[in-house]
Amino acid sequence: MIELRTPAEIEQMRPAGRFVAETLATLKDETKVGTNLLDIDRRAHDMIRAAGAESCYIDYHPSFGAMPFGKVICTSINDAVLHGLPFDYNLRDGDLVTLDFAVSVDGWVADSAVSFVVGTPRDEDLRLIDTTERALEAAIGAAVVGNRIGDISAAIASVAHADGYSINTDFGGHGVGRTMHGDPHVPNNGRAGRGYPLKPGLVLALEPWLLQTTDELYTDADGWTLRAADGSRGAHSEHTIAITEDGPIILTDRSHL
Ligand code: MG
Repeated sequence: MIELRTPAEIEQMRPAGRFVAETLATLKDETKVGTNLLDIDRRAHDMIRAAGAESCYIDYHPSFGAMPFGKVICTSINDAVLHGLPFDYNLRDGDLVTLDFAVSVDGWVADSAVSFVVGTPRDEDLRLIDTTERALEAAIGAAVVGNRIGDISAAIASVAHADGYSINTDFGGHGVGRTMHGDPHVPNNGRAGRGYPLKPGLVLALEPWLLQTTDELYTDADGWTLRAADGSRGAHSEHTIAITEDGPIILTDRSHL
């Protein structure tokens, strides 16, 4: 069921968005060559506790998950792109890191992800991240009243395809509200003009993710982490946005931080 939020409810969702934005900005800043993934999770856990927020991940146990996630942040490194389960690993020079973070504050969820390189970057990694970020910008630009879900999907796909990346549509964007994953599903590829019409009050997590040279994933032995079938690297950009009469509001915006 697709739920629409009143302007007052969208205001109530702002603290969750702000907390997710600030936490991701801080964690990105603190993550360096040598940082251990378990320390990123611990730090995120401390920040959640200090803010009185609630993790959406720790007890998360969908049909495709082998066991409850057990951590509060996804850390996907290099060939891992989604659902990266933090483990005992110290980041190395040139590692491509994705942090994906969702919490609930005052009963409202926000969900956001960022990719970056620690240490000396490879050109092809920066290019992949840049395309993913521009795909997200295009998706947000298409998230306006009068458009449909397919317009967001097509906007993402056109940026990715123009840069020569193929798209896997197994995982994509989703409605966000009291829980992390609601309707509608927002595929990262689709036909413009098709699908559910975008209405004021629709709150969505938009999340293009790309792999360098494949669109196939496999699940790591940890039961969670999704990796590129050919070992190439992945990047992921995600924001939670609210569609309004005045255009999209990026609830998890970090650009001012
Ligand atoms: Mg997310």
